[in-house]
Amino acid sequence: MNQIKTKCVFGPIPSRRLGRSLGIDLLPYKTCSMDCVYCECGATTVLTSERKEYFPTSAVLAELDAVLAKDHEIDFVTFSGVGEPTLHSGIGEIIRHIRLHYPELKICMLTNSTLLDQESVLEDLDGIDVIIPSLDGSNEEEFLKVNRQEPGITLASVVSGLLKFRARYPEVPMWLEIFILPGVNDSVESAERFRQLMEKIAPEKVQLNSLDRPGVEEWVLPEPFEILEKIAAVIGKTVNVEIVSRHKVQVKTADRETPSVDKYNDLILKTLRSRPCTAEDLSVTIGIPAERITPHLRRMERAGLVISEEGSRGIFYRPLER
Ligand code: SF4
Repeated sequence: MNQIKTKCVFGPIPSRRLGRSLGIDLLPYKTCSMDCVYCECGATTVLTSERKEYFPTSAVLAELDAVLAKDHEIDFVTFSGVGEPTLHSGIGEIIRHIRLHYPELKICMLTNSTLLDQESVLEDLDGIDVIIPSLDGSNEEEFLKVNRQEPGITLASVVSGLLKFRARYPEVPMWLEIFILPGVNDSVESAERFRQLMEKIAPEKVQLNSLDRPGVEEWVLPEPFEILEKIAAVIGKTVNVEIVSRHKVQVKTADRETPSVDKYNDLILKTLRSRPCTAEDLSVTIGIPAERITPHLRRMERAGLVISEEGSRGIFYRPLER
């Protein structure tokens, strides 16, 4: 396979949960086994469950080594990005490489859980330190409505995968994320069904999330904080629950409109057309925290909307006009 410039490694990004976290993004834009209505990366264009070497593993490792040779203050290497990381068939080799050459680094896996019921995927995840899987439906209907997954993937197969992971790696902490959407999976009945699922899976903690960045679909709205609290009280009878959504204020109907990814991108592009900016410059101009704008710029770069280059004050972004 020809070597190609991958740019799969990004960051490090300061993270409340993971310290200084270096991201690895193994999928081309926008390849995923789901097309979640809330995805902040935009709509999935390649909906697939096929595992393959989307970027040459050797190129990813070379890039990772080059970054780690310069920066010695990384706490975590986190697999995340614009698609489902376990779709990359070289992920096991990458994890083994990190374990062998950087034993002091911790490895975190963000996953949509869809491939965890495959033996080869479970085997590849040997050596990770934390798993943050997602599970957004309390029944099949909700699951399909929120995640619009690849045909063949069901809530039952995802739960089966999570149970297999727990059985195989009981020592790996699991922080399971549930994304709550008004009118879809926020009822009392849904909360009780989620509680029953959590009783089976027994994650170390559940993190309830809600929209605080633009999603794919404009009908997706933030969940009012008091509803998240009610759901947390039900699930919390069984496992530890944390609300990670930043929407701590009552959301009134008039305030609930959230810009789509396209509108968010337009705002950034408009600023960049006037002058190239660093993530920090954009953070000040647009009012989005720097630690949130960096991964977003990374996704825009992967989508071919912006280009980055080294400048006097760090990495500068400018629009990639076509
Ligand atoms: S939120 Fe994650 S799983 Fe869902 S479409 Fe986006 S990248 Fe895929």
